[in-house]
Amino acid sequence: MTSIRPLRVAIVGAGPAGIYAADILSKTDLDVSIDLFERLPAPFGLVRYGVAPDHPRIKQIIVALHKVLSRGDVRLIANVDYGVDVKLEDLRQFYDAVIFSTGSIKDAPLPLPGVDLPGSFGAADFVSWYDGHPDVPRTWPLEARTVAVLGAGNVALDVARILAKHADDLLPTDIPANVYEGLKASPVTDVHVFARRGPAQVKFSPLELRELGHVPDVDIVVYPEDYDFDEGSMAAIESSNQTKQVVKTLTDWTLTDPSAQTASRRIHLHFLHQPDAILGDGKVEALRTERTALQGDGTVRGTGETHEWPVEAVYRAVGYFGSPLPGIPFDQDRGVISNREGRVVDLSGAHLPGVYTTGWIKRGPVGLIGHTKSDASETIRHLVEDVTGVGEGGNPADGDAAGGRTAPHGEPRAVLDFLAERGVEYVEWHEFEVLDEHEKALGVPQGRERIKVVPREEMIAVAKGRTLA
Ligand SMILES: Cc1cc2nc3c(=O)[nH]c(=O)nc-3n(C[C@H](O)[C@H](O)[C@H](O)COP(=O)(O)OP(=O)(O)OC[C@H]3O[C@@H](n4cnc5c(N)ncnc54)[C@H](O)[C@@H]3O)c2cc1C
Repeated sequence: MTSIRPLRVAIVGAGPAGIYAADILSKTDLDVSIDLFERLPAPFGLVRYGVAPDHPRIKQIIVALHKVLSRGDVRLIANVDYGVDVKLEDLRQFYDAVIFSTGSIKDAPLPLPGVDLPGSFGAADFVSWYDGHPDVPRTWPLEARTVAVLGAGNVALDVARILAKHADDLLPTDIPANVYEGLKASPVTDVHVFARRGPAQVKFSPLELRELGHVPDVDIVVYPEDYDFDEGSMAAIESSNQTKQVVKTLTDWTLTDPSAQTASRRIHLHFLHQPDAILGDGKVEALRTERTALQGDGTVRGTGETHEWPVEAVYRAVGYFGSPLPGIPFDQDRGVISNREGRVVDLSGAHLPGVYTTGWIKRGPVGLIGHTKSDASETIRHLVEDVTGVGEGGNPADGDAAGGRTAPHGEPRAVLDFLAERGVEYVEWHEFEVLDEHEKALGVPQGRERIKVVPREEMIAVAKGRTLA
């Protein structure tokens, strides 16, 4: 088979999933040219805008992602919002295949009386604020002394830790000035984390949990009356080293002598409490929880016994949920693009020719950054099968004589002209690098690795070498 030009592939979403997909695709035998679209003026997705600023080791993953984009064989076209600036029919003009890797940025809904009261927040919004996401307000109302965090995963731990940590202890990180000032003024003293199930059922990673115990001037309080294990719990502890480590850390904390706890702030970890209602007259004044009981297999049932906790703010860290994209089949129940192993499928289950997905928007918002790599491998394997006609399960029409080269305008410049004509101020890799260097330079006088630029207009202006009015 001879082809007249490289296969043109667009990847929409420059988080880890999109960048890994680009990297893996570029290393296949296909003669391919890849453009990576991103809504924000900066790539790296939740590694830049989700991973907590005090997790520099994880943030370092950006170094590896940066290397892929600086090689020059994957073209970044940032500040382009799919659905607003371009749609599938536009992309089909320029690309033979499109891979969606748009992730999830929104909180999963939590139907709870009082959930809309002022003072009730989604964790995703708070995370976006403290990580300097350009699309959220610059200020955050940190007025509460006592706060509840609902959830038993790592995001709940991140939120609790950032709320409880003294702002000065976050100063070595890349937090923007507005975030430092907001946290510095916070009057918080007590952060209560509530988990529905027992200590052996939480989804905390051992490392992240242990880290709580090392936050300066913050004590961890675990209540013996919440500490229950059924047969299902014992089986979980036996079968999972991770669960064993988590339970050991929690057990050590139940044995702490309360008189030794002299910190000015506390994180309380409560188990076997499910949220029942957020209470308050015009604002959050309390959280009501219902005591749950383990049923033998690690699941819980409500007992009818309720507790009221006087808190002034509630953060819901019960998971993220994907958002639909215009023109792309979406599974509303799971919050993912409808797909079969990365091939996007319509209602009848047929593959939408040339359309693929990967990352959190493919399989749901669970799993670590590393998981998006194996995910991308699967999607790219199917794309290659479809283009070459080698392999099973693809759309036979894709493996045609033209080698899947279907786009009428395969010239790489054409899409840039199209965006410019539409007035889209796209940001390319060399321009992002200017922003990247600028952020690093901002950090130098304070001995910090970088200070993030937050407002979108400022990010673009810096990237384009313009001075802001
Ligand atoms: C609060 C939090 C903390 C985390 N901490 C860790 C951790 O410590 N360690 C770890 O391994 N994992 C962590 N994770 C998980 C990790 O962030 C995810 O596994 C990973 O980011 C998922 O990658 P993704 O590329 O699918 O999605 P994302 O990282 O969300 O990337 C999606 C990209 O698509 C872009 N996009 C969205 N819509 C559009 C559109 N319409 N047009 C163009 N572009 C679009 C977004 O701007 C974004 O850049 C954390 C997650 C969260 C939420």
